This record gives sequence, structure tokens and C-alpha cells, in this order.
Amino acid sequence: MSASRQLRVALVSLGCPKNLIDSEKILALLAEGGCIVAAPMDHADVIVVNTCGFLEAARQESLEVIGEALAHKRAGRAQRVVVAGCLVNRDAEELYKLAPGIDAIVGVNNRRQILQAVTAKRRVTRTDPYSGGICSDAGRFRLTPRHTAYLRISEGCDRQCSFCTIPAIRGPFRSKQLKAIVAEARELIADGAVELNVIGQDTTAYGRDLGVKGALASLLRRLDRLDGVRWIRLMYAYPRPFDDALIEAIASTPHVVAYIDLPLQHISGPILRRMKRGITRAGIEKLLVKIRRRIPGAAIRTTFIVGFPGESDAQFTELLGFIREFEFDALGVFEFSPEPGTTAAELPRQIPDDVKAARARALMAQQQQIAFAANSASVGRPIEVLVDGIDTQGRCVGRYYAQAPDIDGVCYLSEPRPPGTFVTGKIVGWEDYDLLVRPK
Ligand code: SF4
Repeated sequence: MSASRQLRVALVSLGCPKNLIDSEKILALLAEGGCIVAAPMDHADVIVVNTCGFLEAARQESLEVIGEALAHKRAGRAQRVVVAGCLVNRDAEELYKLAPGIDAIVGVNNRRQILQAVTAKRRVTRTDPYSGGICSDAGRFRLTPRHTAYLRISEGCDRQCSFCTIPAIRGPFRSKQLKAIVAEARELIADGAVELNVIGQDTTAYGRDLGVKGALASLLRRLDRLDGVRWIRLMYAYPRPFDDALIEAIASTPHVVAYIDLPLQHISGPILRRMKRGITRAGIEKLLVKIRRRIPGAAIRTTFIVGFPGESDAQFTELLGFIREFEFDALGVFEFSPEPGTTAAELPRQIPDDVKAARARALMAQQQQIAFAANSASVGRPIEVLVDGIDTQGRCVGRYYAQAPDIDGVCYLSEPRPPGTFVTGKIVGWEDYDLLVRPK
């Protein structure tokens, strides 16, 4: 063991915040095992790439980063390259052929074996299938700024969305026990977090496997009572079930911000059916209207897929019309990607790539108009900003309640303020998706 104590380990974390939590836990396990963690790639003995693999584009990005790590090994700077994360659960030992030189692969269910993979002198392959339970994320080596943290409440997904690989990668849905979540939240707050971003693959299903009705609403109310928390943000919500108790919990608790990340994927009935989303246009509209009516200032972020097999011009136009009418606060778009192993990849009438790209551009161009108009209309309003820090251009950056970390716009403060503090001020201008704020 003494050898591993001196090992310097670099970790590259790819993909979503759930993978980021895995990276934080991996670093903690390695530090406990005596490794020096968070070394830069070019000064590391071992490079760990915690991969993403849910879409072909993410898969290619992961393989590129693995390639960079292997270049350090070929140059004699690194001794070992370890690949972890979702791509391992997708490609497993195929990875040894795709990227010769990899020394170990560790799947998402084998996080606890990371030290073995890093310190061994031989090839290590740990790709166990899901075997029950959900890991604790307590005791992480935090990679986010101290004042903001992700809080995972569940893992896996039981839904059948026809385009999605996540259930096959991350396994069936399972909730964390309320007690464990509250303990992790307390630990994060004690470590400086004032903002907790609540995540999972499907947060609205929280508690279903525990037989607890309205569990997510109760959880948010419980987190709301924790000393020291200022913002609690619900992310990765599914539009069904999104019941009144949940809406009420968001509307009536002081620290749960009026922000909902609610991927909808499409609005056309036939497309929603072929996506196996289990909800209709009417169901979505009824929910969105209820949220906006009951939660004052509700900011709704969503995501759509364009170019789903069989998507006609009329169905795409219907989607554009719906977005124009509803005016989401933030929106992302994916071009449909036929992922091996999904039923949607086998559907007839696949859409040509150039048509998908054109539809994605058209949709984002329309959303840009909506976002810029909203920013322009907000000039002169008072605002409360959580300061994140100084960016690479030396500007003081923060976010208001309607801006989640890493995926939404930001607020630029005209005068610097300490990270992790809340600043009140006035919106004095805007730049693209971002706001310019003068602190009081
Ligand atoms: S709910 Fe999300 S993670 Fe689950 S299958 Fe659908 S798209 Fe995938």
C-alpha cells in the first residue's frame, strides 16, 4: 500500500452533475487510500477519466479525452490510465480495443473498487451489473465551488423513453432514504454550501419504490428546514406525476426556489407516443399552466429533441409554435441520436442529419429571441444574486434564482463581491443570455 500513497492522480469528469458526484466520491476514495488527488493531467502518475456515454456525441468526447490521457502515458508522464463511468457500462471491454493502452475499466456500480484499479500493476476490469441498493454520496471531495453543491436523491430510471440509454446504463430506479439525504445535505451545508441542487435521473419518481406518496414534496419541505440553506433547486423533473403537493411545496417553502428543470422532449401527440413519454400535449399544457399560476415568478427550463424518427415538418412547426406561445425561461435542444440498444434507433423514417441540424438551429434562434426579449424587459428590476466568483475574463459572476449552475445564463456584477455571498442590486443591462447587475 505504501506505493499508492505517493501516487498522484488526475481525474477528468465528463457528463452530467450525477457523474460529477461520482467523480467527487471517486476522489474521496482515492484520497482515503493515500493518493494525492486532483493533480493536473501532465503531472499525474495515474489519469482517471470518468466518462459520459448516453449519446454518441458524448461517447466520442469521452474517447477523445481517453486519447489525451493515453498520449501522456505514451510520453512516459503517466503510468496508468483508468476509465470509469457510463461509457464503461455501455462499451465495457470493447473499450480495450477502442482505446488500446487503457489499464483498467470501472463501471458505475463499481465506484468502490476505484483504488484497486488505480493502484494495481495489472489490468483491472470491474463492470458488475446493478445488484441492488443505492450508494451513499457522503464524504465527497467537492469539485464545485464551496457555496453550491449537487444533492443526489435517487439513481437509475424505470421509464421507457424510446430514445434513452440511461436505464440500461444506470439501472432501475431507486430512492435514497430520506434520513441519508438529510445527512448528506447537512454535511454539504457544514462544508459551506448555501445552494443545494437536487438531482437524479428522474427526481419526480422519488419515494415511489419506498411506497411513500408525495415523498418529493415532503423531502423538499424537510430540506427547507435545514439551518444554513438558502436555495434548494429541483432539477431533472419528469412531467408525470407532478402533483399539487409538489407544486405547493415549491410555492410555499422559503428556500425552494421557483425554478423547475422539466425536460419535455416534444409536444406533438404522435411524437410523444413514439417517444413513450406517457403524457399528452394536453397533460403537459395543463401542468405548465398550473405551475405558472400557482408559483409566482416560476422559471421553467426544459429540453427538446428535434428530428425524432418520423417528425414531419408540421410536427416540428407545432413544436416551434408551442415554444413561441409558452416562452420558456431557458431551453436546450438535442438532435435525435439513434443510440444502439434503444427502440427509437430501430424506428423507420429516420430524419437526415442536415434536417435535424436545421431544425435545432431554427428552434434555438426562436428561443434566443424570446430570451433576449425577456432580458431586455427585465432592465431596471431589483435582483438578488448568489456570487459564484471571478471568471477567466476577470469579471465577477453570479446567478439569480432562475439560473442553475453550468447550464443557464449568468449575472455579471459591475463591482466584485465575495463568492458564496448573496448580493441585492439592480439589472442595468444584458448581454445575450446574461444579465448585467449593479450591486447596491
Ligand atoms: S426519464 Fe429521462 S433518464 Fe429516464 S428513460 Fe426517460 S429520458 Fe431517460
